[in-house]
Amino acid sequence: MRCACCDRVFEGDGLEICPDCLKGLQLGGNPNRDNLLSLFLCGRIKYRYAASLAAYEPQNHLSELLRMAKYGNRPRINSCLTRLLAERCNPVHWPGDIDAIIPVPIHWRRLLRRGYNQVTPIADTLSEMWHVPVWNDVLLRRHFAASQVGHTWQDRYDHQRASLRVSHIDRLRGRHLLLVDDICTTGATLLAAAERLLEVPGVQVSFITLGKAI
Ligand SMILES: [Zn+2]
Repeated sequence: MRCACCDRVFEGDGLEICPDCLKGLQLGGNPNRDNLLSLFLCGRIKYRYAASLAAYEPQNHLSELLRMAKYGNRPRINSCLTRLLAERCNPVHWPGDIDAIIPVPIHWRRLLRRGYNQVTPIADTLSEMWHVPVWNDVLLRRHFAASQVGHTWQDRYDHQRASLRVSHIDRLRGRHLLLVDDICTTGATLLAAAERLLEVPGVQVSFITLGKAI
């Protein structure tokens, strides 16, 4: 079979990632124990489960793969990494009682410019595996978020929080929602999105990202 990441042909048993690529990923452990994302979120927000697949830093294996997926328009990479995440990160918990998968939204102008949303294949793959619906219509971006490089963390967080809004509140009430993004870098976007959802009575949140910046 052909590796989804490096395109080399290898002897495989179902997973479309070759042993070399797998080794290069330095996988991130189990959710709620030693997982990079849950360690980061712990104490910052109330959540049920959190998991990232692997550490993300400039030029490491995961960042190269995600760059290929995004700029080489190869969503299959994101799907394969998502399957790996779902299988490796504690199958006891996932999907548990999660009612819906919520992709962190990007603005339509950015979507137009980029041509595709790299979070979509992650959300769709989880949905297919777990038979849990993706709700694209509940977390929306109000206005175009210009690049926040150079601002403080609090500036980024405030900006994200102001630019996100929640819709269909009646449907969300009392639900356990899984927020999905490709990379958690500063965490400002993910935390702002979760805070918005947690304003709805009875909502619980969990998190999945492929990479957690270190
Ligand atoms: Zn490979």
